[in-house]
Amino acid sequence: MSVFKSIFPYNQQVIAEYPLMDDHAINTILTDSAKAFTHWSLQSYAHRAGILNNVAAILRKEKEQLATIITNEMGKVLAEAKGEVEKCAVTCEYYAQNAEAFLADEIMEAGYYKSFVAYQPIGAVLAIMPWNFPFWQVFRFAAPTLMAGNTALLKHAPNVTGCSLAIERVFKEAGAPKGVFQSLIIDVPEIEKIISADIVQAATLTGSERAGASMAILAGKHIKKSVLELGGSDALIVLADADIEKAATVAIQSRMQNAGQSCIASKRFIVEQKIQEEFVNQLQLQIQKLKQGDPFNTNITTGPMARIDLAQQLEKQMQNSIKSGATLQLGGEVDGANFNPSLLLNVKKGMATFDEEAFGPVASVITAADEQDAINIANQSNYGLGGSIWTKDVEKGIALARKVNSGAVFINSLVKSDPRLPFGGIKRSGYGRELGRHGILEFVNIKSIAAD
Ligand code: NAP
Repeated sequence: MSVFKSIFPYNQQVIAEYPLMDDHAINTILTDSAKAFTHWSLQSYAHRAGILNNVAAILRKEKEQLATIITNEMGKVLAEAKGEVEKCAVTCEYYAQNAEAFLADEIMEAGYYKSFVAYQPIGAVLAIMPWNFPFWQVFRFAAPTLMAGNTALLKHAPNVTGCSLAIERVFKEAGAPKGVFQSLIIDVPEIEKIISADIVQAATLTGSERAGASMAILAGKHIKKSVLELGGSDALIVLADADIEKAATVAIQSRMQNAGQSCIASKRFIVEQKIQEEFVNQLQLQIQKLKQGDPFNTNITTGPMARIDLAQQLEKQMQNSIKSGATLQLGGEVDGANFNPSLLLNVKKGMATFDEEAFGPVASVITAADEQDAINIANQSNYGLGGSIWTKDVEKGIALARKVNSGAVFINSLVKSDPRLPFGGIKRSGYGRELGRHGILEFVNIKSIAAD
């Protein structure tokens, strides 16, 4: 491929084409990253924070324009795109404010005159990112890594190259020196050249298991640290004593926002049998309120999926589940990338929408006999990213949360990423953490210094 195309998914119109970088351009980027690291890594936290705060200000000032690029390239409704840009601004400010405290020297008593841990930058960090939150995924990596004194290299998904270049421009206009944040417009075969470069000391990938495993092999081969933020099939567990209307409202919000293309969407609704009928009625009411269509139209709640092949893949998973005994209660129509919000009942382990990640607007309802059965079903997934439990007994919810095998559990609340809380998965959802203090510690040299 010699160009990447940006295509508006709603009507498949090609909106831009971007030539891929040649070897010379890639080498220049690596050299600039190395040069930038020599001075950026020595800057004060206050200096770096000033630039991150400028980034936040530009994101807010240009919110409408940047959100338009997002919607044009991957099809989410404009209001969601604006929310995404705002969240990036908040996260830049969060790390601008907190990075110095997170990375302050830590005294460790070990019998020496003085012994402590220093947290130091390591070099350039390569981020390989997906298209579903094309700004947010980048900023949740870039804000901490830049505040830690590293430089950043971004290989974005090809369908959101406009976003990749817009983010690079925002950093430049905010005063980030040349080489501190750079976009690589490259195809997957070029990734080894980047990971093997001396300046690159770590890589992080958000995306599918296939891509994650492949990147981790390269990182291992070249002895570079890696973080993987991969797929999920989160359980939303509704117990008999839950506020059923609220649970159903949040379930549909979680499953259908971003046209269902979120790693931490609730994908398996696991419901105690006693309340299933009422819960399903509420789900149907919520789904009927959704309006699918042009994501630039402010009356629309659900845009298209990002690409036709993704809609086709989801349709196949839905049809396979139906063949295996699931019932299609609502939706099921697919036109190009436009996938009608759909509800499947009687889903069980062994069906595609249970065993695999359903990355689009298809909700699966699974019946549980009781609380313990619900936890067992939740843990039958190969994934372990997030999950939620709905019960009026919060202490019981917290106790059950400890039994769910995942990187996060929310009780009576939407599962969402928050700069203040670490985020990441276990099992096939990946390893390592982003956000919070844990996120910034992933890409630093944790150095012990002991003096007698
Ligand atoms: P994808 O196909 O895996 O692509 C993600 C990125 O990886 C793209 O930049 C892609 O580039 C690159 N890539 C593909 N094959 C690669 C390889 N062999 N080596 C290195 N890089 C490679 O994923 P997607 O379909 O764009 O995104 C959806 C997936 O991301 C879902 O599974 C979702 O759950 C997951 N996700 C996880 C999180 C989280 O935080 N855990 C957040 C959001 C999304 P090309 O497109 O050029 O191949």
